[in-house]
Amino acid sequence: MLVLHLRMDNSQIADAFSLLVKIMDIHGENSFKIKTYSNAAFQIEKLEEQLSNMLPADVSAIRGIGDSTGKKISELLSTGKIALLENYISNTPAGILEMMNIKGIGAKKINIIWKEMEIESVGELLYACNENRLSRYKGFGAKTEQNVKEAIEFYLSKQGFLLYKEAIPFSETILQLLRQEFKTNDTVATGDFRRQAETLEELEFVTTILPADLKTFFDQQPGFHFATEESTVLKYRMESGPMIKLHWCEKKNFAAILFLTTGSSNFTNFFLQNYPNADLQNGSIHEELNIFEQVGLAYIPPYLREDNSIFEIASANKIPTTILPSDIKAIIHSHSTWSDGVNTIRQMADEAIKSGLEYLVISDHSRTAVYANGLSIERIQQQHIEINELNKILAPFKIFKSVESDILTDGSLDYPDEILQTFDLVIASVHAGLKMPEEKATARLLKAIENPFTTILGHMTGRLLLSRSGYPVDHKKIIDACASNGVVIELNAHPRRLDMDWRWLPYALSKNVLISIDPDAHSIHGFKDVTYGVLAAQKGMLTAKANLSSFTLKEFEAYLAERREIKFGN
Ligand SMILES: [Zn+2]
Ligand SMILES: [Zn+2]
Repeated sequence: MLVLHLRMDNSQIADAFSLLVKIMDIHGENSFKIKTYSNAAFQIEKLEEQLSNMLPADVSAIRGIGDSTGKKISELLSTGKIALLENYISNTPAGILEMMNIKGIGAKKINIIWKEMEIESVGELLYACNENRLSRYKGFGAKTEQNVKEAIEFYLSKQGFLLYKEAIPFSETILQLLRQEFKTNDTVATGDFRRQAETLEELEFVTTILPADLKTFFDQQPGFHFATEESTVLKYRMESGPMIKLHWCEKKNFAAILFLTTGSSNFTNFFLQNYPNADLQNGSIHEELNIFEQVGLAYIPPYLREDNSIFEIASANKIPTTILPSDIKAIIHSHSTWSDGVNTIRQMADEAIKSGLEYLVISDHSRTAVYANGLSIERIQQQHIEINELNKILAPFKIFKSVESDILTDGSLDYPDEILQTFDLVIASVHAGLKMPEEKATARLLKAIENPFTTILGHMTGRLLLSRSGYPVDHKKIIDACASNGVVIELNAHPRRLDMDWRWLPYALSKNVLISIDPDAHSIHGFKDVTYGVLAAQKGMLTAKANLSSFTLKEFEAYLAERREIKFGN
């Protein structure tokens, strides 16, 4: 009888009430109301008789249950649901519900995260931990923040998708394991990873190790679980890691298979259809370069093998020399202990000097960013005194006075003009009120771009990869406005941001807009993130010449002076 199968037992009923209690806590409901349901859950768990066998009147008469809870139990037994609970669930963002799966973040904390910090997804929460935002709230010390961070990283590692940065250690581990065990074979990374994709679900490799040998090897390795096998392709899932896809081929076909597995399907299909003369079959290809030579194309580096429009550029021999990590001369966009960074300005400057950089732009948060300890006007003046002092000591290295000014809801910047003019440059970014329709977001940014004090537009859409899509903007309008107002567009290099999206770089470059690859560093360790910005920028064919953070100190000073002249005539 079907009905019997559907009947819930007491512990399932208690679970439903525990969930109701949690969700009400998350919504910050009155604790008296919540207590009724948590008492009920507690009592139900202890009952010896199954509620499903009792009459409704008897259920309501149980100590700690009562009429209203009794009705909910009947409802649950007859429909499988409690309308009140369903209602709460449908009024809770999916990302908030997801947080309930993370160890160490209780309902009360989730309430603060959602309602006070205005964070609605797990990825955003992780990003906030990196910015030291949590420790500013009641009940969240530095230790809690660290625990939350670790719990989220553990949780996310089980979800499959990875940021490029997170994929690197997995890729290195596999290459190392295989190269150590099979010394005479070749194995290299291919696919999304080789194309420097900003996020990926699978790590792919081309290898000359026979599938049977690979299987024997991986079956003995702890942490690898066999997934599928299809002729020459073997898949394993890594514990707390991505899917691994191994393409086997004979040595003579290695370069051809590497080529065929590297490009996006758009790229590869276009190539196969339009260049039928390429001979990929007979072992005549020794290196990928031969393939391009065969069909009279300039070599297309792996990171550009995305869209088929690249073929036109390659056949005209117009692929530019793209930027390299070594082309970065400065840290533009960084936070110190004055706002939400963990290192002092001095420590940041020392690290920049040690890294061989020529200058550092300190851009702490502005006063509206209260959660980030944004700077009051008075504190800006104090900070400028400190920077002047440091510049005397550290010359010829130079620290520039900047601010990451919030772009307020109406598009204005966060200080009056007489304060804005005391900065060497201003980075303008949106941090609050991210839920905007495209028209509003675009208008808000346009107003900030038209402000003569705005030097750089920070992280254009506010996206956080794999966790928040960012507000929609009319990219063309924004880029056109930056072109006509001489505003630089940031390519925020944090591996979770990479915002503006590299796909818009060719358009921005065609309009002669300067780009700035900025780490948005909240500590000295954040400096290293510029590399991820460079890798993304390469995909958009950015050159060092068009990147502000590749300007030498002299060039940067000249640029700021010229800009001041144009905007303010002094
Ligand atoms: Zn920012
Ligand atoms: Zn920032």
